[in-house]
Amino acid sequence: MGKRILVTGGAGFLGSHLCERLLRAGNDVLCVDNYFTGSKDNVAACMDNPHFELMRHDVTFPLYVEVDEIYNLACPASPIHYQHDPVQTTKTSVHGAINMLGLAKRVRAKIFQASTSEVYGDPTVHPQVESYRGNVNPLGPRACYDEGKRCAETLFFDYWRQHKLRIKVARIFNTYGPRMHPNDGRVVSNFIVQALRGEDITIYGDGMQTRAFCYVDDLIEGWIRLMDHTADDFTGPVNLGNPVEMPVKHLAEKVLKLVNGKSKLIFQPLPVDDPMQRCPDITLAREKLGWEPKVALDEGLTKTIAYFDGLLKSNKAVSRV
Ligand code: NAD
Ligand code: UDP
Ligand code: UDP
Repeated sequence: MGKRILVTGGAGFLGSHLCERLLRAGNDVLCVDNYFTGSKDNVAACMDNPHFELMRHDVTFPLYVEVDEIYNLACPASPIHYQHDPVQTTKTSVHGAINMLGLAKRVRAKIFQASTSEVYGDPTVHPQVESYRGNVNPLGPRACYDEGKRCAETLFFDYWRQHKLRIKVARIFNTYGPRMHPNDGRVVSNFIVQALRGEDITIYGDGMQTRAFCYVDDLIEGWIRLMDHTADDFTGPVNLGNPVEMPVKHLAEKVLKLVNGKSKLIFQPLPVDDPMQRCPDITLAREKLGWEPKVALDEGLTKTIAYFDGLLKSNKAVSRV
């Protein structure tokens, strides 16, 4: 039997893929979003489905609905967007978590939190394991996101201990795919859009800082496995990401090759507090969820390039915030 599932931030990049996946499995999906970085276009394919409902709402305000499960995704995810209004970013993570946890408590819903590898900050342990407590600058420009997400994790674990809520916390590493925002400044979308337009490819720093990139379908599979894991005492946090690490400069070269583009690589200053290396240790996800990414970078990038190519040709690219 289908469940009634609330997805906050459901009109964003990851949320829209999750809504589609949950609908396909026969659930009723209530998507709640304030459209800060998401859009109705992202969920256009869901709109004809009678089991889908879309509600404009900001999670920093209380929400009274009756559901069986909650996926709490609402929060801008790219540095440009989350630094645009940092106070609102912290409020979204903290007040949003309090409201969604209060809702989960009232209706006894199981609740998932989209946490992030940013809780590890600029890590001194590599690859990052869940037991690592991180190296976050609480005062810097990334703090609104990192500390907001850390506080949200604290709230999840306190509601679990204090109110016996069923919680599932995923620490998500860099994920890419169709429906990323074309102007959100993230590295994969930037490089693809620049390569397709024949513009210079902007590498921050020397490009030797590393990231590991997970294709969206792999990530969503991990979320579902975590949420559907029957052991209520398996709360996470669990790392979900692709453990294939590479310097940002190598990503630029790969994108350029796949696009068959002629762009030049140019070097610009590294943003403040930009982590030098990041790669998930996914041993826990492998053991507990039987999960690991399946989509190779070339395959995922090819699909993402096709998406951006279509978007640029349709002139739907949205202007910078
Ligand atoms: P996104 O910006 O595309 O989606 C976030 C969605 O939340 C948007 O639709 C936005 O409009 C909505 N939103 C923002 N503030 C809100 C508010 N106050 N009330 C209601 N809705 C609000 O980003 P995404 O990449 O899809 O990220 C989804 C979640 O996953 C976020 O919580 C993010 O922190 C987390 N995450 C993403 C990545 C990644 O690589 N994409 C990595 C780590 C964690
Ligand atoms: N809340 C909500 N929807 C609900 C129940 C609660 O948005 O269905 C919000 C409510 O505004 C409250 C928050 O969740 O501020 C935390 O709820 P909780 O019951 O944990 O705490 P309290 O109401 O005692 O502050
Ligand atoms: N980056 C880059 N050029 C760009 C955008 C990003 O070199 O046009 C770098 C950025 O400095 C960081 C990495 O790519 O080192 C990943 O950046 P992104 O914003 O995608 O994610 P995050 O820093 O949150 O992991």
